[in-house]
Amino acid sequence: MPDHDYDLFVIGGGSGGVRAGRLAAAMGKRVAIAEEYRFGGTCVIRGCVPKKLFVYASQFSEHFEDAGGYGWSVSGTSFDWPTLIANKDREIARLEGLYRKGLENAGAYILESRAELVDAHTVRIVAEDRSVTAGMILIATGGRPNPHAALPGHEHCITSNEAFHLETLPKSIIIAGGGYIAVEFANIFHGLGVDTTLVYRGKEILQRFDMDLRSGLHEAMEAKGIRILCHTIFDRIERRADGRLDAHLSNGDTLAADQVMLALGRTPNTEGLGLDRAGVETGKADEIVVDDYSRTSVDNIYAIGDVTNRVQLTPVAIHEAMCFVDTVFRDRPTSPDHDCIATAVFSQPEIGTVGLTEDDACKRHREIEIYRASFRPMRHTLSGRQEKMMMKLVVEAASRKVLGAHILGPDAGEMAQILAIPIKAGLTKDDFDRTMAVHPSAAEELVTMYQPSYRVKDGERV
Ligand code: NDP
Repeated sequence: MPDHDYDLFVIGGGSGGVRAGRLAAAMGKRVAIAEEYRFGGTCVIRGCVPKKLFVYASQFSEHFEDAGGYGWSVSGTSFDWPTLIANKDREIARLEGLYRKGLENAGAYILESRAELVDAHTVRIVAEDRSVTAGMILIATGGRPNPHAALPGHEHCITSNEAFHLETLPKSIIIAGGGYIAVEFANIFHGLGVDTTLVYRGKEILQRFDMDLRSGLHEAMEAKGIRILCHTIFDRIERRADGRLDAHLSNGDTLAADQVMLALGRTPNTEGLGLDRAGVETGKADEIVVDDYSRTSVDNIYAIGDVTNRVQLTPVAIHEAMCFVDTVFRDRPTSPDHDCIATAVFSQPEIGTVGLTEDDACKRHREIEIYRASFRPMRHTLSGRQEKMMMKLVVEAASRKVLGAHILGPDAGEMAQILAIPIKAGLTKDDFDRTMAVHPSAAEELVTMYQPSYRVKDGERV
């Protein structure tokens, strides 16, 4: 590759692009990486990280309520949105600095510019109005919230991007969608004292998750006071004379709120990238089409992360980046393993899940056993909070293999991370049963559910 300016040019400085650029540069490769906005990408700048900080902020209202049962009097509490935003921004700036430093220390050349393909080996640095060439190009441009342009009045709505920078905390909000972002933000806003309504087109929120998690979370959110309207969508959004918004719903209702937020999925960032000039094929959702090794239709151009619309999760993009470096620069072709990915929804209560849902397991296996426990976590006993915790293991009857684990309740995400190891390793329910409990903990339920709650054989509960 010596004829080119760089061995690798990375377009996009998010989790995937930065990891690939850093690793390749640390190997002595000549690497340039271009980012048009801020290093860190969606996860660090306007996604996972600020979201989780918001989740922590929003949990204090319940912590204050719960404190009474433990003898504490907490009075005169108040919440200041600008303080949260400023502190969050400071933390994000710190993390962005770390991302840059990592790249610089590894020897990558940083370009603060949009970059577009001119041909299969040439990239235009838009801010500097010049082009460079590279032997390998990695596209890691991520995605952006679906603006739902077909919705009349969509221009009045915010997405998660704006939610991180609102000047004032709304008194009321209506959120459209029933996925990760809609559910997490509904809980965040509610916890901060905002009157919150969730509007979802399907029959139950969080499609693709285990049904017990979906209905359990729905119930818990409603019990807190979040309004959830299923089987309905927005027909149009109108700005009223007083500045508030009217959301007209397909069920005939009209709801008024200070803000309306759309959380209707994310679209790959491929627009204007020059993919056609380079011959890079895209799919129906504008995603870059890649093979098992993240290679696009052009031999020397690879793509990873959300822009490929495979699994839109930060750790997946990072894993794909490491596989890319192994494949291209270490002569160790490695295809990303997308099987059995643990995930958390930072709702309140939280969801942690890994492996097959009960419904999916029934479709793939003739007979399964379900082990399920629903209980009040110990911390809620003195506080008087009625919220229950749910744990569920899905086990294949014949092999005893644990196929899936689903948790609703405090620290569910942390537990899902640990459970991902035995489930990925293919351990059996007997291995779980042989494991000593940690007492007193909520997680001990996972190794003490000795008898199945029920079995499902040929799709029928027995
Ligand atoms: P999701 O795919 O999770 O959810 C999108 C929601 O929008 C679904 O409920 C979907 O309904 C609904 N929807 C889509 N199109 C329409 C439409 N035209 N009209 C009405 N409803 C519609 O996307 P999100 O935007 O919530 O999040 C994007 C991705 O970001 C997630 O897939 C996830 O991978 C990632 N993420 C991960 C987080 C985490 O790990 N904790 C947190 C936040 C985001 P239906 O279900 O019926 O299709």
